[in-house]
Amino acid sequence: MKVLVIGGGGREHIIVKKLKESKRVTEIFAAPGNGGIAEEATCVPIKDDAIEKLVSFALEQQIDWTIVGPEVPLTKGVVDAFRNQNLKVFGPTRDAAIIEGSKDFAKAFMQQYDIPTAKYQTFTDVEKAKAYIKQEGAPIVVKADGLAAGKGVVVAMTDQEALDAVENMLIDNKFGDAGSRVVIEEYLEGKEFSLFAFVDGENVYPMVPARDHKRAYDNNEGPNTGGMGAFSPVADLDPQHVEYTVEKILKPVAKGMKKEGRKYTGVLYGGLIETKEGPKVIEFNARFGDPETQVVLPLLENDLIQVIEDVTSGKDPQLKWKDGYAIGTVVASKGYPGSYAKNVKLPDLDTNNHDVYVIHAGTARSEDGNFHSTGGRVLLIGSLQNSPEKAQTEIYNYLTRFDSSDDFFYRKDIGFSK
Ligand code: AMP
Repeated sequence: MKVLVIGGGGREHIIVKKLKESKRVTEIFAAPGNGGIAEEATCVPIKDDAIEKLVSFALEQQIDWTIVGPEVPLTKGVVDAFRNQNLKVFGPTRDAAIIEGSKDFAKAFMQQYDIPTAKYQTFTDVEKAKAYIKQEGAPIVVKADGLAAGKGVVVAMTDQEALDAVENMLIDNKFGDAGSRVVIEEYLEGKEFSLFAFVDGENVYPMVPARDHKRAYDNNEGPNTGGMGAFSPVADLDPQHVEYTVEKILKPVAKGMKKEGRKYTGVLYGGLIETKEGPKVIEFNARFGDPETQVVLPLLENDLIQVIEDVTSGKDPQLKWKDGYAIGTVVASKGYPGSYAKNVKLPDLDTNNHDVYVIHAGTARSEDGNFHSTGGRVLLIGSLQNSPEKAQTEIYNYLTRFDSSDDFFYRKDIGFSK
């Protein structure tokens, strides 16, 4: 079986690694892939949102299954385009991916179907938005309606920060069209977790919960990033809260989307917070999360392509999870999430004598055979062990090779609960 993975980050690298375990998969392509993926699959130089080119490639190569990693091609309708050509593809259609593509849609949908989430209002008018902020008061959260690569959320601890955020979005167009509408919502307090599920129509098969570390620096300090590391499972999570999330959140979402004529197929990602009143939704994503996937998929016993085939043909995939703890620590370019140097040579990534897995995110291989950086998040070093402490020891022993570098940094506290 030939499989195409769309995307070129760490999430897609772990998907490729997982597919390689399958006896049924004979050939893997990635578009566009990255330096690490190129070691394990055939990378094709097609951008992840060049939909027509992706479809043509899949037709030419007679690809049996396509798995879509990132959100942008989903919200642009890549699944619809593949299906129109009778190509099998795992992911939601454009109409269903709107659950991630528009926060206003997601909030209104949750309100309609009684899904627990923060109280909110949506604005396009700056004066009305400001009046609402003054009425509600800080702390308060301002979110760009559309996709903003995880950067369109301002958790404002003062009224002024919130007022500045709406100015930035509605007047200065900081996020372009994505910020021409803002959702302003109640600030929620509690521990966060992510719960992914394989979904087809009303059938929902949850994975193991994970937690990511969003802030750039140790002790959750510094700016928000795409994620500096993750771990799974989440020891401090109340199992009843996981059950509640599946029964009262993910299943009703799948059912509601179907009822709205937006039948959902693919991975549904719930970003949740454990409040005093129970879990509430922070956001939904329409795909596997990055970096959580890099610690969730290593725990999955099943053959991923078999799971996808089962789920999409109405069968229970009988998910089985390994015992153990997976942790992943991101190595980023110094300066990330702000500006940073690219094209920096990486140290030797040999894993001899280290029980870790190396996931590439922003890397490419130079002509001289060395890897160099191409992005903010460069690598994720993961380890699956029978205790979180052992996983941390393995990861942090390996990471010492970056300690003399002025070009890269990583958090030293990944895997400690936050
Ligand atoms: P999002 O992109 O919606 O996941 O938001 C990014 C981060 O902002 C989340 O992981 C939370 O840490 C924080 N956040 C978002 N919404 C809220 C909220 N209503 N209350 C508190 N923190 C929030």
